[in-house]
Amino acid sequence: MGSSAGPTSRERCRGCGAEFKDLVCEYCGLASRKAEDPAFEHAALDEFHILLRRCEPDAQAKLLRDGFLPALEANLLEAAVLLLPYLEKDTMDPGPGAAQRLEAILAKLSALTPNDNLQRAIANYRERLVAYHRSERSSLIGGFVMFGALALGLVAVIYWVASLF
Ligand SMILES: [Zn+2]
Repeated sequence: MGSSAGPTSRERCRGCGAEFKDLVCEYCGLASRKAEDPAFEHAALDEFHILLRRCEPDAQAKLLRDGFLPALEANLLEAAVLLLPYLEKDTMDPGPGAAQRLEAILAKLSALTPNDNLQRAIANYRERLVAYHRSERSSLIGGFVMFGALALGLVAVIYWVASLF
């Protein structure tokens, strides 16, 4: 990286300046202009998910937040399906990035010309998002209950130790 001159006209990532090896930046998940072409869009989505599977949870969160999103209906619907495993708290939990990406996909889907299949999918994913946020809240409450129990246990131990003297 560094020298800007040269005959190479390889496109650079507008996120980090790295040269695109293919359609999606391997560091920030942004897509090259080529990926905007419908002929390449599906390939870019595949590439994005290969990168996502390969990287660490920290990098996953960033990729999920900033990464490539298709524009065509079929590819957006597939992007939502491929994203679902990342909304499972028990298996993979890259943090709020997955929910943010689903919200972005929903916004794009909602902007398309409506049809029955699309409306059904949107309603379904909205519910999925609500369920995700609900489970997030309940795990927060669970955390508070756990903390409260620990604090009580500590107080009990202090009383017990104090009663020994
Ligand atoms: Zn980049």
